[in-house]
Amino acid sequence: MPDVLISEVGPRDGLQSIDRVMPTEAKKRWIAAEAAAGVREIEVGSFVPPSLLPQMADSAEIVAFARTIPGLNVVALVPNAKGAARAIEAGAHAISIPFSMSETHSLKNVRKSHAQMLEEIATIAGLARAGGVHFAVGLSTAFGCTIEGPVDEAQVVRLAVASAEAGAQEFSLSDTTGYANPAQVRRLVRAVKAEVGADKMTTLHLHNTRGLGLANALAGLDEGITTLDSSLGGLGGCPFAPGASGNIVTEDLVFMLEAMGVDTGIDLDALLAVRSILAEALPGEPLYGFTPDAGLPLGFERKRA
Ligand code: ZN
Repeated sequence: MPDVLISEVGPRDGLQSIDRVMPTEAKKRWIAAEAAAGVREIEVGSFVPPSLLPQMADSAEIVAFARTIPGLNVVALVPNAKGAARAIEAGAHAISIPFSMSETHSLKNVRKSHAQMLEEIATIAGLARAGGVHFAVGLSTAFGCTIEGPVDEAQVVRLAVASAEAGAQEFSLSDTTGYANPAQVRRLVRAVKAEVGADKMTTLHLHNTRGLGLANALAGLDEGITTLDSSLGGLGGCPFAPGASGNIVTEDLVFMLEAMGVDTGIDLDALLAVRSILAEALPGEPLYGFTPDAGLPLGFERKRA
């Protein structure tokens, strides 16, 4: 196992953030190429109604395809119990539901109060147990909300504990809005971990809206985070900040970790080559990242480890 698990979320978070629909065959090429480069976990789609997100309409087919790739952990995002049932049916190894820590955001986005979300989480936990599928909860807007502003950290901890009691097996702290800073990441990871345990508080889902993504990732690693979500080319961008990538960029994240001697299990040259699949399938779509343009520093391979 690598020191840090990189969970590629571009086929879900990246693609759902742009209006264009990537052809199913291109999605398959992308997923296969990243897996071949050493990426061990990919969030491949979302089981939302296709009428809401046509970009994700082929998620069942994509999950079935990804399942054929040996050694790849196939994750699907689910908005509710109905989506969870579809994802489990399609064969996902793991499912993840976003749970907005801002109740205003939750009511506006999925028309559910926190109490209703906890009921949904308990239902999904039952489905996941019956289907032998791993079930994670993404504590979204945990670092701040575009409607409410600051989100009470004690409330995040409370809702994480309640989700664990409802059957959630693992947590991701999600900086949905790109508000997080490293001090806040340290504080919140530590606080949630103290209540749900290190085995459950494993993951950070970071966006690079204000350029703090890698600093936040490093702060999380220092606090014992073992999984980092990222997306190839930072696909999707940020609608509020033109020129800013969406999720933290997988290529830059892998470069940082490998340069530090932290094993990701990923071949960076092979990973960089996967960008051409995106460029070809989505011509004109901005791809972010510094490492792809700057190249690898002289002696990089020798400096590793
Ligand atoms: Zn996201």
